[in-house]
Amino acid sequence: MMKKRILTGDRPTLDSFHLGNYVGSLKNRVKLQDEYETFIFIADLHSLTTHFDKTADLEKNIRGLMLGYLSVGLDPKKVTFFLQSKIPEIVEIAYYLSVLTSRSVIARQPALKEKLDSGAQDTVGLFYYPILMAADILTPKANLVPVGKDQKSHVEFSRDIAIKFNNLYGEVFPIPEPLIGDVPTLIGTDGKAKMSKSLNNAIYLSDSADVVEKKVMGMYTDPTRIRATDPGHIENNPVFIYLDAFGSTSSPQVEQEVNDLKKRYTVGQVGDIEVKKYLVQILNNFLDPIRKKRAEYEKNPELVEQILKEGTEKARKEAQKTLDEVKRAMKLDYFTSDSE
Ligand code: ATP
Ligand code: MG
Repeated sequence: MMKKRILTGDRPTLDSFHLGNYVGSLKNRVKLQDEYETFIFIADLHSLTTHFDKTADLEKNIRGLMLGYLSVGLDPKKVTFFLQSKIPEIVEIAYYLSVLTSRSVIARQPALKEKLDSGAQDTVGLFYYPILMAADILTPKANLVPVGKDQKSHVEFSRDIAIKFNNLYGEVFPIPEPLIGDVPTLIGTDGKAKMSKSLNNAIYLSDSADVVEKKVMGMYTDPTRIRATDPGHIENNPVFIYLDAFGSTSSPQVEQEVNDLKKRYTVGQVGDIEVKKYLVQILNNFLDPIRKKRAEYEKNPELVEQILKEGTEKARKEAQKTLDEVKRAMKLDYFTSDSE
């Protein structure tokens, strides 16, 4: 039986992933790479919507994200990595989807609204991005899309547009499902917004042990707690959220220690500093093997580039096949020669 397909991707707005990207999406990709035929793309076209003035960083960021994929254990023998801008078929398919899409549906997209609220410029490109994203998902005929909760609405829109296309022109696209990670939205170190590459509230998978320590020691905890003897709150406290996400699941012993800290924190028997020091240890234990792997691949940039190039070639062939099917279904295959 043919394996089902995964498609998911990341914006190269920076050269590293953060803890939120990991628990929201990367972790599921690693887990499912044997079971699914996995396509992962670097969404450089999507970066342009908010970072059109930072194109000089793109190449470095793309290399950094590739290192990130390989360092968390995505296996290039199993996963097809590709670069969005090298697959013009996606943009063409997006256009065909756009003529089926009402402006009002896009205007209501929660993810688009969030971007505008956080200061993104209201360009035509930004408005078009949910359609491009549907084309990203539908072009490789994905069945499953592992994403954080912030992107769930995009997968839902992709489903709607796939259904509409299939009803109008015949079955071309499978209907994709979102798969949300263990932690749907990881909060940032500021305790306010979602951890994000662009908000200066992230711990990166490539951060050194010292940087992790500095960031954790400066983290927001429970604002109602002034002294270590005050009873503390663990809900919505990012220190405990990170302990649960990166500690509790790692071993029964750590789970026990985290539970013990939670109890003591609630009754005012442990200070923030002790809890934070413990978190530094947990995060560095989690990050150490990732850092090591990244350093190995960093020594071999040609190999990393080769992996991306080969993946892009393979993904392009798939995209060409889908585009042909799309045009045939839409009866747009007029005046094509037999050799095409
Ligand atoms: P940017 O700020 O540039 O948009 P980002 O951190 O939001 O960066 P993306 O490249 O947009 O990262 O998203 C990559 C993947 O990580 C997506 O699947 C997204 O849903 C997921 N993700 C991003 N931030 C979080 C978070 N804080 N918690 C859980 N998942 C997240
Ligand atoms: Mg994002």
